[in-house]
Amino acid sequence: MQGQQKTGLFQPESVSDAVAVLSDFGPHGSVVAGGTWIMRAPLRHECFAQNYVAIARIPELHRIDVTDTHVKIGAGVTHGQLARGLLGVPELYGLTVAARDSANPAVRNAATVGGNLCTVDFPAADLVTALLCHDAEVELETVRGRQRMGLEAFLRVRGSVQPAQLLLGVLIPRRHVVSAHARLPMRKAGDYPVALVSAAVERAPGGTIGRAAIAIGSVEAAPRRWRRLEEAVAGLPLDPTLLYERACELAGEFAGRDGPEAPGWYRVHVMPALVRRTVEDLRKH
Ligand SMILES: Cc1cc2nc3c(=O)[nH]c(=O)nc-3n(C[C@H](O)[C@H](O)[C@H](O)COP(=O)(O)OP(=O)(O)OC[C@H]3O[C@@H](n4cnc5c(N)ncnc54)[C@H](O)[C@@H]3O)c2cc1C
Repeated sequence: MQGQQKTGLFQPESVSDAVAVLSDFGPHGSVVAGGTWIMRAPLRHECFAQNYVAIARIPELHRIDVTDTHVKIGAGVTHGQLARGLLGVPELYGLTVAARDSANPAVRNAATVGGNLCTVDFPAADLVTALLCHDAEVELETVRGRQRMGLEAFLRVRGSVQPAQLLLGVLIPRRHVVSAHARLPMRKAGDYPVALVSAAVERAPGGTIGRAAIAIGSVEAAPRRWRRLEEAVAGLPLDPTLLYERACELAGEFAGRDGPEAPGWYRVHVMPALVRRTVEDLRKH
């Protein structure tokens, strides 16, 4: 139709074909996985890409491999598949909850791990927040070869990387931790959450907190670790009230973002209560 942009859809069956097609398109091509973020482009006043390269038909991107040392999750694994696939991995309980309780059933059946990690302007990404607590690394493929980098480094550069880059998946080292994930949705199931708290804790001898990783999502523009709280709770008993009090003392470092679900001050205000809820859950595992 005259005046209407046509979008091409390519469905390669291997990583090398996908990367080759993406490289040919350069800035005029983009990956599509579940499409749950892309489909809302008009609501965000964004344009669709001229060409999309779908990853649905690439088998290696849809696997979850659990070994004694690592859990490897393909970029094309959906939130629903992830929640089911991690049931035998107790230390990733927090990530399981993040996958299980995000969005709504229809979205969970389509939205992928790769989409969650690659979406630049999505502060409420449940999986990113949970993965930040597990020393995760991402694996990327370009025409120049394969590359691995830490998740935090990837989050810093993902907006500026070349378009012909395919996220293959995420690699999590297995550690003796307990983990949990708490979220505050506002109105009804399926809305983006007001705030997210994830934690993974190594217990020291005597049951106190050894090393803690705590991540906050949806409060600021992107999920991030709360390092001052992690340092403040090391050596303390895993006590919900104690950690709630420390979180109240330190919450001032966050500048909450205003958004349709809630104003910024409210997101910051609810964080300590979510920390308490996360710790209550950690104690059950
Ligand atoms: C109503 C609604 C509510 C939602 N609520 C939540 C929620 O509470 N929590 C939550 O975490 N999520 C939520 N989401 C889902 C969110 O859209 C997804 O979690 C995720 O961000 C998108 O995954 P996708 O596979 O659909 O990505 P797509 O829409 O296919 O792609 C998103 C972006 O990632 C890029 N991309 C995707 N895969 C790759 C790859 N392998 N390599 C390189 N780039 C890639 C695409 O090019 C695009 O830029 C919600 C979605 C909807 C529609």
